[in-house]
Amino acid sequence: MTQRLLIVDDEVDICELIADVADGRGFEAKTISDPAKVEEALVEFKPNCIMLDLMMPGTDGVELLRNLGDHIKGCAIVLMSGHDVRVLNSAKRLGAAHGINVIGVLEKPIEIPTLRDTLDLLAKAETKTTAKTADVSDSKMKDEEVAVFYQPIVDIITGRVRGMEALVRWNHPQHGILSPDHFLDKMDTAEMQAMTNQVMKIAVDNLVEFHAKGFPVAISINMTASNLIDLGVPDRLDELCKAKNIPPEKLTIEVTEGEAMRDVRKIMDVLTRLRLRGFGVAIDDFGTGYSSLRELQRMPFSSMKMDKSFVMDMAENRDSQMIANTIIDLGHNLNLKVVAEGIETAAVWNMLKDRGCDLAQGYLIAKPMSFDNFLKWITENGGVFKI
Ligand code: C2E
Ligand code: MG
Ligand code: MG
Repeated sequence: MTQRLLIVDDEVDICELIADVADGRGFEAKTISDPAKVEEALVEFKPNCIMLDLMMPGTDGVELLRNLGDHIKGCAIVLMSGHDVRVLNSAKRLGAAHGINVIGVLEKPIEIPTLRDTLDLLAKAETKTTAKTADVSDSKMKDEEVAVFYQPIVDIITGRVRGMEALVRWNHPQHGILSPDHFLDKMDTAEMQAMTNQVMKIAVDNLVEFHAKGFPVAISINMTASNLIDLGVPDRLDELCKAKNIPPEKLTIEVTEGEAMRDVRKIMDVLTRLRLRGFGVAIDDFGTGYSSLRELQRMPFSSMKMDKSFVMDMAENRDSQMIANTIIDLGHNLNLKVVAEGIETAAVWNMLKDRGCDLAQGYLIAKPMSFDNFLKWITENGGVFKI
């Protein structure tokens, strides 16, 4: 399929330069130097990729991305600017937050070899269709609709599968399998607690089966403040594991925090008692929002999961790389195991390995899978991921 490239830049020379090079690489290109005409061009030209200047008279690219929103969700986008790469990267993140597929950034002055590479990236980009959204506001999750997917966590030196993260899915009667972003933030405390109890039961049962099949893996379960104010959690987990003969060190609770840590005392109580019983406790999404240094100081964590936003673009973004390196050192200085999630490329894997990160998780290794698929995956590779 020919890629239809729309080039938006107020400097006519730049438009022409890009169009020339794009033409030579098989694109069908259209240039626009008046930002007011972009909407019209989107309707008439129907591009599937766009190169957009961030700074134009009367508007800027960030504003344009926000206003065009839905019109350009299917397009692969490259942002261009003479500002430093940090500004470009933050615009890229902003685009992602609006659900826009920004696949790269191009610094000005434009160098021809870099332009060629960027166009090749665009040519290969999947022009996505809009993500599935399902309105679940009028239904509640029933116990039997709770499903759990598993994503492997492997030793970064040996590739051995050490464990897996249990990730909840809603097996919805109308919409099929839904991921947490469709429902998690709409749940109240009672629903959240009911769902987590169900996830815990399924995960422990499945863990027993993995062990029986000869894979002595560990499992991580996510909990938020709504779960951790429930003082009964440590004893319930303890009973569950004892009943199934699971040693507590095979189970880690990942503390994810979307909102402010309410009721710090109760949460500290629960986390400390989990640790006293031998369970692991990880600070999840470390480096973002409330998963902060203060939590690290006051909560009894045994491991740290570095947020995927630093990991995913480490190979292209020097700032992300520096932050990731610093997080690894911080974790180690505090005697914590450091897990990197969001590893999508071998380049990132190698950087983290060289830097001494302990455990790895991400699409490079495997995406979250159903129990059956995980069992198939781990059986086929004999419990060792080979890069
Ligand atoms: P999380 O705990 O940080 O889990 C990691 C998320 O990152 C998962 O999304 C996983 O699919 C995704 N991920 C892993 N590797 C990669 C990668 O290489 N690239 C990209 N782009 N993404 C990757 P998922 O399954 O949609 O879960 C989202 C969040 O929902 C989780 O983030 C966690 O905060 C929450 N969650 C999941 N299951 C539960 C649960 O049982 N209870 C609670 N309270 N929260 C849950
Ligand atoms: Mg997690
Ligand atoms: Mg995370």
